[in-house]
Amino acid sequence: MLKELHKMGRRGPQVPVSGLEDRPISEILPKEFLREEPLSMPELSEVEVVRHFVNLSNLNYGVDNGFYPLGSCTMKYNPKINEEVAAWFQDIHPALPENRVQPLLELLYTLQQDLLEITGMDAITLQPAAGAHGELTSLLMAKAYFKDHGLLEKDTVIIPDSAHGTNPASATMAGFKVVTVKSDEEGLVDLEQLKALVNDHTAVFMLTNPNTLGKFEKNILGIAQLIHGVGGLMYCDGANLNGMLGWARPGDMGFDFVHLNLHKTFSTPHGGGGPGSGPVAVKKALEPFLPKPVLVKAEDEDGDGSYHWDYDRPRSIGKVRSNFGNILVALKALAYIKSLGGAGLREVGTMAVLNANYMRVAMEDTLPTAYPGLCKHEYVATAEEVKKRYGVKAQDIAKRLLDKGFHAPTMYFPLIVKEALMIEPTETETKENLDAFVQAIKEIVEEAATNPDVVLSAPHDTPVRRLDEVKANKELKVRW
Ligand SMILES: *Cc1c(COP(=O)(O)O)cnc(C)c1O
Repeated sequence: MLKELHKMGRRGPQVPVSGLEDRPISEILPKEFLREEPLSMPELSEVEVVRHFVNLSNLNYGVDNGFYPLGSCTMKYNPKINEEVAAWFQDIHPALPENRVQPLLELLYTLQQDLLEITGMDAITLQPAAGAHGELTSLLMAKAYFKDHGLLEKDTVIIPDSAHGTNPASATMAGFKVVTVKSDEEGLVDLEQLKALVNDHTAVFMLTNPNTLGKFEKNILGIAQLIHGVGGLMYCDGANLNGMLGWARPGDMGFDFVHLNLHKTFSTPHGGGGPGSGPVAVKKALEPFLPKPVLVKAEDEDGDGSYHWDYDRPRSIGKVRSNFGNILVALKALAYIKSLGGAGLREVGTMAVLNANYMRVAMEDTLPTAYPGLCKHEYVATAEEVKKRYGVKAQDIAKRLLDKGFHAPTMYFPLIVKEALMIEPTETETKENLDAFVQAIKEIVEEAATNPDVVLSAPHDTPVRRLDEVKANKELKVRW
């Protein structure tokens, strides 16, 4: 039977496993591992199973259903052609020898070169499986770098108070102390406080640029000089690259390393936590510490242009993920980059910023921005005034948006903004959609004034009404 399965299965091993194929499984496995009773399986017809899953999927809300302005998550439309390209490679086994997968390695290498061009960096790894994983990988590299240079006093990472929660978590996991620097009234790093915090213990300054308020750090060159002045490293959380794609590069701003969220900036549906890819690009000084193996091209005199996994990396921090990374996400990113080209990527950055500013201004008299002025790809509105006047909170507004057919924005983040609604429209929305969302916000704030109960008890039209979120978190039901 195994033999038959091997022959039939597209994904089955091509060569029979020796000794297994001719004997029944009950003779091969030790007696104590064999089941005594037949396995109790639900008996369902195909149509029942199909209906069950189609109905479940109809309850889901994604970018393909409608507007999804989840700030900092860059929930842009994902072109279907990218899925198709990635699917060509889905059956490749990660353990196949290099010489059998040269075309795949060439594609991954091409992506690496493109990402280096986009970030202005010198070397890169595609291994980390998400943004947070890229942060941890980077900080482990920083640790190895300081150890290698005998700089053992470098034990502190400085992080702005507007940062994503993963930043301090990653720094702590990598064994650093974390110090927080405040934001100034513009939503940028408070330079005076930063100067006071920087000293010989400063290992890394982790900065999200543009930051989670959608603000570009205009003092970046001065900050880099300050940090480099004490021998520290500049790390860019590049999750918000969409806000400057094609216009500015972390490598030109004094950053020594950066992680990208391929699943945000370069397409891949990632609602609900996956799948992701968080490549880390570095300057020359950090290259020896990249996770191994590193994908290289044999290009010197004896080189034949072939691609190899280089394991001979004595100072590498080692492997951070099984196999070679989330290759299918990487391939989607490559398809995205190649189908848009340089000019297209620059237009992505342009339109992302234009759309965000269009909405920001259109909403300003209803839900003002916490830090006024031009933004990049996103902005953070505050419902503080609405709460004071009508007792309606940011969360109530977010719930009422669901009734109006929109996904809610990111809420209560960053922590420095009271009653925060963080809105990122992305470049793939039409003006009609942006207008419709602004209109919905205006209607909700009007309702808050005239009939607050309808907002306070929202959502009314969703499959489940308002959840007790504490209970839902504590008693997580992952199956029915
Ligand atoms: C999304 C995000 C992260 C974390 O990325 P994951 O892929 O979710 O791990 C880190 N920083 C910022 C600013 C982000 O928006």
